Amino acid sequence: MTTESPQRGSTGDRIEGPRSGNGSLGHEAGQYIERVTSTLSTDRPSRPAQARLPSLCAVCRGWGLQRICADCVERHAAPTARCSRCALEVAAGVVVCGACLRQPPPWRAARAAVGYGFPWDRLIAAFKFHDALDLAPAFAALIARTGHDRHGSAPPLLLPVPLSAERLRERGYNQAWELARRLAPLLGGIADAALLLRVRDTPHQLALPPERRAANVKGAFAVEPRRLAELRGRDVIVVDDVMTTGATTAEIAHVLLAAGAASVEIEVVARTPKPDDLATH
Ligand SMILES: [Zn+2]
Ligand SMILES: [Zn+2]
Repeated sequence: MTTESPQRGSTGDRIEGPRSGNGSLGHEAGQYIERVTSTLSTDRPSRPAQARLPSLCAVCRGWGLQRICADCVERHAAPTARCSRCALEVAAGVVVCGACLRQPPPWRAARAAVGYGFPWDRLIAAFKFHDALDLAPAFAALIARTGHDRHGSAPPLLLPVPLSAERLRERGYNQAWELARRLAPLLGGIADAALLLRVRDTPHQLALPPERRAANVKGAFAVEPRRLAELRGRDVIVVDDVMTTGATTAEIAHVLLAAGAASVEIEVVARTPKPDDLATH
């Protein structure tokens, strides 16, 4: 598949593709309701006019050019040593934590921009549940700061953790897709909301004790069967807002690797600080 043609980045087309649905907005396949004219993966210029509008910092309420000001990023998102496999905090100089050495997760690497605590917990809640989509560019920029090693020659595919159709209808958007589509140009990848599907709705992970979370998401995800060839041999970055136990991302990694992905990496805004559980336990 060509990846550089001007039309390629028409994410709206891609998202609705599997549904081929008569002008429908493709709730099940896509991860948003409004028709977003995405500029991802195209050579269209970014939106400097929008970027220059002054706005109140979401953290300190000071005026600035960014939704989260540079001072607050420095104060609350200082780079932290994190395990390269599970993104939990480690001592400086440690690359892989003991838990991951003993039992490596199924993905190759995981990166988190920040720990899940003040002020990120309330900002992510606003972003996820209260339509604060204006935070998405700032979150994507924070994730991009954690860096990304390019492995294959083809651009990586950025796949949001999909929502079920029901939850998407309730919420109106998938916060992971809002991140993925903004992160893609920053990482030189291609965001795609229709390749990975949630085929079964599940109770929210946080409603369950950690030991039940892996079973809860078993069989919940699948690769779009008509697009398996597009995944084969590709490096995939799974994007989400928060990584907690890793049960969801582990299940997704298994599904993607079984379907032929060359590698899976995880990129999230925030990692919960405590290793209360890993899916592999
Ligand atoms: Zn600020
Ligand atoms: Zn680890």
